[in-house]
Amino acid sequence: MELQAIPKPNQEEVILHFSHPHHPLVLMNLPYLFTCMGCKEFGAGKRMKCQICDFVLHDFCAFAPASLTNHPFHYNHQLVFYTKSSGFLPSRCQICSNSAKGYVFKCTICGFQMHPCCAMMNWEMNLPIHQHPVILSQQMNGDVGILCRICRRKKSGLMYCCGVSCGYYIHAICAKELINGLYENGIKPPEKSKMMGTSTLKLASHLIFGIIGDLVEGIGEGIGEALIDSIARGRCASMRSKHLPSN
Ligand SMILES: [Zn+2]
Ligand SMILES: [Zn+2]
Ligand SMILES: [Zn+2]
Ligand SMILES: [Zn+2]
Ligand SMILES: [Zn+2]
Ligand SMILES: [Zn+2]
Repeated sequence: MELQAIPKPNQEEVILHFSHPHHPLVLMNLPYLFTCMGCKEFGAGKRMKCQICDFVLHDFCAFAPASLTNHPFHYNHQLVFYTKSSGFLPSRCQICSNSAKGYVFKCTICGFQMHPCCAMMNWEMNLPIHQHPVILSQQMNGDVGILCRICRRKKSGLMYCCGVSCGYYIHAICAKELINGLYENGIKPPEKSKMMGTSTLKLASHLIFGIIGDLVEGIGEGIGEALIDSIARGRCASMRSKHLPSN
């Protein structure tokens, strides 16, 4: 996959980041979902993680440049990196249409803004999931009811369409899964509606507790309780991390 919207930064393996100045962040590759504390969006795989507390950033957020000039999505004006999209109105990323709640590249002249992850994309991309290059369409919007091949849904927002018009379409917001490591690690982004104690989640936790319960019977009581306790805490932590910014 060639992505040259942002030149690949010199990624160091251990850094002190300005947004987390007291603990070093270490480059890690873990197959689990995380929520980036910078852009507040999901990620998996590669990350810059604090070894002491839970702080974690996408690698592209941790190494985001202070400004972007001639970015293909907005080449007329310079884009400046902000840690928070200021303003009272809820603001959206102009590429993926998701809300911008944290790190963002913003045009100081016209108000254009996009997530660091979206800044990693380009008008034309070669993706590992389709044999032809895909092109971000300015005319084709999900509103016209085209099925996205990644989420298998129809929803509004910009879409990439196949460069040789074979009828392949994906949402820009879904294309992000190829950038943020979710696709690579086989993780579907948790959805808002599925987050709060839905049957899927309950079923999964019953299943886990069921298995653990069986396990516990075979282990000494103290160890078993500690095990359940730590798993319960892990589950809460993962539920916390699933707290998506609501649109
Ligand atoms: Zn991020
Ligand atoms: Zn820390
Ligand atoms: Zn975006
Ligand atoms: Zn502008
Ligand atoms: Zn989609
Ligand atoms: Zn095609």
